[in-house]
Amino acid sequence: MPGLSSLHIAVFPGDGIGVEVMSECIRLLNVLCERDRRLSLVFEHLEAGADLYSRTGTALPDSALDRAARADAILFGAMGLPHIRYADGREVAPQLDLREAFNLYAGVRPVRPIPGLKPVLADERAARIDFVLVRESTEGLFARRQDGRMEGDRTATDVLEVTRGAVEKVSDFAFRLAAGRHSDRRATVTCVDKANVLSSLAFFRKVFDEVAKRHSNAADANHMYVDAAALNFVRRPWDFDVIVTENMFGDILSDLGAALLGGLGLAPSGDIGDDHAVFQPCHGSAPDIMGTGKANPIGMLLSAAMMFDWLAGRHGHDPCREAAADLRGAIDRAFEIGAVLPIELGGTDTASDVTNAIIAELGPKRLR
Ligand code: NAD
Repeated sequence: MPGLSSLHIAVFPGDGIGVEVMSECIRLLNVLCERDRRLSLVFEHLEAGADLYSRTGTALPDSALDRAARADAILFGAMGLPHIRYADGREVAPQLDLREAFNLYAGVRPVRPIPGLKPVLADERAARIDFVLVRESTEGLFARRQDGRMEGDRTATDVLEVTRGAVEKVSDFAFRLAAGRHSDRRATVTCVDKANVLSSLAFFRKVFDEVAKRHSNAADANHMYVDAAALNFVRRPWDFDVIVTENMFGDILSDLGAALLGGLGLAPSGDIGDDHAVFQPCHGSAPDIMGTGKANPIGMLLSAAMMFDWLAGRHGHDPCREAAADLRGAIDRAFEIGAVLPIELGGTDTASDVTNAIIAELGPKRLR
């Protein structure tokens, strides 16, 4: 690893608008480095994705994985294109392989609306929405996706796999995250499952409860069935604090969380493991708008802020901590003063207009 003054960032732009939001993100990260000389990022662009698969037959080359494994952090745009599929009908989705290859068990999806944006829900408590969805990202219903079974043309079967090790890890992660979130009140971690119907998810809940006992001095624990959670995401989302859930439930609920923010283009995420982490917006490659300039880069930029937080926590690196805060502050201010409204939200600002507005709000670095 290079010295901490120079961090090595592996960059997977991927497919569709992934490429577009990534180029905006790199442009902004270079500005952050120019305004604070203590921060130095070395980017290594790596190829992976559905388009690469259609050209070469490989979606995620081993050489790219090896390079990414040596990086300090990984930035990722989006991957997958609906028309590029395997023979069994599944899409080429190397983002899932990447999570498994690096054991990125905690898919962290913060749901905190940008203060200057009109809340999606009319209830005045919507201004208080601030929760984090932690999606188990290495197993569940996605783990055995290569092993789907067909019986003739009549029956298709997939397997939902839950292991003690993964649930312990992701639950422990969720409790540690929760414990650091509030100074004025106790945190609550909600296990979202379907323990009333599936034994795999009753097991998920059992292991979660065991982990919860170990953290009972720092946070409360409760449970909710996934169908009720979907209801409460809309009915009273301000009551959630930290949620931990199975892979596919997390996949679905995180899009609902993005809707609470105002759109998919606003939602950031980090897939975090013990040794590696990948930061990417929650959205996909959006083929319906690729090449039009309509992609909203905010989710990508907020994912970069999450990357800085993670690097700061890992290395105790103040310039990263400040870059995360400065970037979030600039985004909040740009919306608050009405300097920006992306096309996704009914405005006219293209991806590069949005980035320019955030860069303008960053202004010169004030040393702390
Ligand atoms: P999507 O997230 O790409 O798009 C859903 C809708 O949201 C579209 O109407 C799109 O235009 C809009 N949207 C998404 N991001 C936006 C942004 N930044 N700005 C403005 N509008 C935005 O989901 P999809 O259409 O279901 O999937 C398209 C492809 O992406 C598929 O191949 C899918 O498998 C893949 N995918 C990849 C990831 C990932 O890489 N993590 C996640 C989800 C979907």
